Amino acid sequence: MIPPTDAAIVTVGTELVRGLAVDTNTSEIARALSAVGIEVREAVSVPDDRASLTAHLTRCGAAYDLIVVTGGLGPTHDDVTREAAAEALGVGITRDPRLASGLQAVAARHADPRAAEQVFRQADVLDGARVLDAVLGTAPGQVVRTARGEVLLLPGPPREMRPLLQTYLRDRSGARSEPVVLRCAGRSESDLQMAAQDVLGDRDDIELTVLAAPGDVRVVLFDRGAGAAALALAGAAIAQRVGEACYSTDGRSLAEVVLDLARAARVSVATAESCTGGLVSGALTEVPGASTVFLGGAVTYTDDLKTTVLGVDPSLLETFGAVSDAVARAMAAGVRDVTGADLAVSVTGIAGPDGGSADKPVGTVWFGIAGPDGVRAEMRRFSGDRHSVRERSVTTALDLLRRALPPE
Ligand code: AMP
Ligand code: MG
Repeated sequence: MIPPTDAAIVTVGTELVRGLAVDTNTSEIARALSAVGIEVREAVSVPDDRASLTAHLTRCGAAYDLIVVTGGLGPTHDDVTREAAAEALGVGITRDPRLASGLQAVAARHADPRAAEQVFRQADVLDGARVLDAVLGTAPGQVVRTARGEVLLLPGPPREMRPLLQTYLRDRSGARSEPVVLRCAGRSESDLQMAAQDVLGDRDDIELTVLAAPGDVRVVLFDRGAGAAALALAGAAIAQRVGEACYSTDGRSLAEVVLDLARAARVSVATAESCTGGLVSGALTEVPGASTVFLGGAVTYTDDLKTTVLGVDPSLLETFGAVSDAVARAMAAGVRDVTGADLAVSVTGIAGPDGGSADKPVGTVWFGIAGPDGVRAEMRRFSGDRHSVRERSVTTALDLLRRALPPE
């Protein structure tokens, strides 16, 4: 088919038209399309209203070669983009079994069976559509033919939208190979970008993107004509340069890597958590088969429980406070003793918004690692809100476990 030359951008979300959220997708998509010679001639935001969206898509489908739609691809009842696009194009919708099985774990997190069932709406694919697998998040992108050209459906959250837009534009430019994704922890987004750029130099046949979630950064290489072999070589060279901070090049999560390393080394693992409230053990046990190495853990939020459950000496709590080097070590050593695990990690910190002080501001988190060779502790100061401090704490705890295990 002739590559599209003009385009409309349609962003979907009641929050966008009511001024409750800022539409950043339009400008980002418009820049990306313009950069590859596609002329954006219209951009419109519509509420989560199926009839109005169908009308816009019908009109734009007749007027432009390409329509890029973002938003409304999630699981809830107000996510109507799939249905509206199917109606505008006059095609059906079929549940994709491969996508549905990929959503099983997400569905299992919902208590209400109706909510669990809704999750699978994200596996509903317009007939004849090409699926762009989600790089972040759970909603895939879809590319559907129209009489004039194509409709591209993308998820609304910018960090989920971005990699799929790039995949689409890359495929359109004729390049074939899958992107190479390096997952990294413990180094900043900018540091990783610099390292990757140093390796890539000024070559323009590989496109570099760096995607950051709290404490967890992905370096993504897109094929812009380099070919699969050259892309893999570049990925390996970047991984080598980044060193220990790169924990996987095959898509595995940090928790999966920790469990694989522990399994290979026959090392059992336990956790003692305060400010993360069990999120570290949650991340480990989300991985199927975790029970072969993960023994369990304790959530000890109060000083009392740190003492009664983990055996932390009350005088340490009095002298140094719960968020301290000494208590982090005592928690890790304590849970290692209680569970009989080979390796234990502890987390104790101030997630905020209250509870900070001059010498221990919000975001101060101590981690303990106890293993056969002894106990040590490390401190981090995270910025951001309570949610992001806790997320970064989980990533850091998992990363400390990973680094304490024998490498592959
Ligand atoms: P969705 O599930 O696709 O409806 O979108 C989920 C979230 O993505 C919304 O609550 C917004 O925070 C964000 N989002 C959706 N559309 C946009 C947009 N056009 N620009 C920026 N953020 C967006
Ligand atoms: Mg929405």
